[in-house]
Amino acid sequence: MTEPVLEPWAEDIACLRLPMPAFGGVNAFILGQPGNQTIIDTGMPGAETAAIWHAALRNGSAGGVEAVFCTHAHIDHAGQVGLLARETGAPLLMSVGEYEDLSLVNGMTFEERQRIATIFQDKGGFPLEGRGHPTDYSVLAPLHGQVQHVNDGDTITLGGRDWEVMLGGGHSRAPVCLLSRDLKILLAGDQLLMGSGPQVPVQAERPGDDMLGAYFSFLDRLDTLPDDFVVFPGHGDPIHNFKQQVARIRNGHRQRLDRLLDKMDGAMTRAELASLVFTDPSSRLKARLPYLTTALTNYLITQSQILACDDAGILKYWRNDDAPTRHR
Ligand SMILES: [Zn+2]
Repeated sequence: MTEPVLEPWAEDIACLRLPMPAFGGVNAFILGQPGNQTIIDTGMPGAETAAIWHAALRNGSAGGVEAVFCTHAHIDHAGQVGLLARETGAPLLMSVGEYEDLSLVNGMTFEERQRIATIFQDKGGFPLEGRGHPTDYSVLAPLHGQVQHVNDGDTITLGGRDWEVMLGGGHSRAPVCLLSRDLKILLAGDQLLMGSGPQVPVQAERPGDDMLGAYFSFLDRLDTLPDDFVVFPGHGDPIHNFKQQVARIRNGHRQRLDRLLDKMDGAMTRAELASLVFTDPSSRLKARLPYLTTALTNYLITQSQILACDDAGILKYWRNDDAPTRHR
């Protein structure tokens, strides 16, 4: 039996690192004192993580749970929301957008998601080889129980302390960050991570979304926070000097956009553009390229820098300033 190990990260904030081999773990947080606590994020579905939560509830590490908060709908954060809501009787708190997305994919079979992903990748001109599989959210328990929505700008009391709700975007549709000006802490979910930052993917179910535009807006908003805030991310350790990381991530996206525009030559598919921008990707990243590349092309279309046209079922893109000479 795995006993939960709580790491105190700040006054009345403990981090519970949950198993997720692909990313070296996913962070859940427990806010407040036993008897008056909120759980933030829940880990992957499956028996291993469920056993940790059962142990935490049994040994009092998580007790008197008043709310189960889920920052965003991704499986590594929402994997145990059903179990925790059921075991604690507490309401599930999410943004409207994330709850809608979670309900949507939770209600779809793996085959339905696969079919939509196939259409999306076919349109991008991606070869069959190297394609990944969509995540199967039907493995989650049905999402019934009490749900409360939180909105941007709300102030809510969690674990005996007031938190401001800040809705992000880009990594998912309407993820929630929680801000304590007293503690100078931002619970960021996956909206800010170390390394190259969170993935900014377009979802196959919403192929037209400008996720990168949403993410840039979020990064601009982070820049308006005081410099001395500490970010508690959904993966990894606390992030100090977070504005350096904001700048690094923004630069990374800008460089990929510049490279795409610079190397784009005539009408090209998303698969061709992906190979210009993401050189030598790992097999895991390769499976994500259809989604990450579409975030770039959707952004550039929104910015009127490129155009797209359907060519026998495959979308082709070209630079806006290139169109008159080559394609008219
Ligand atoms: Zn995520």
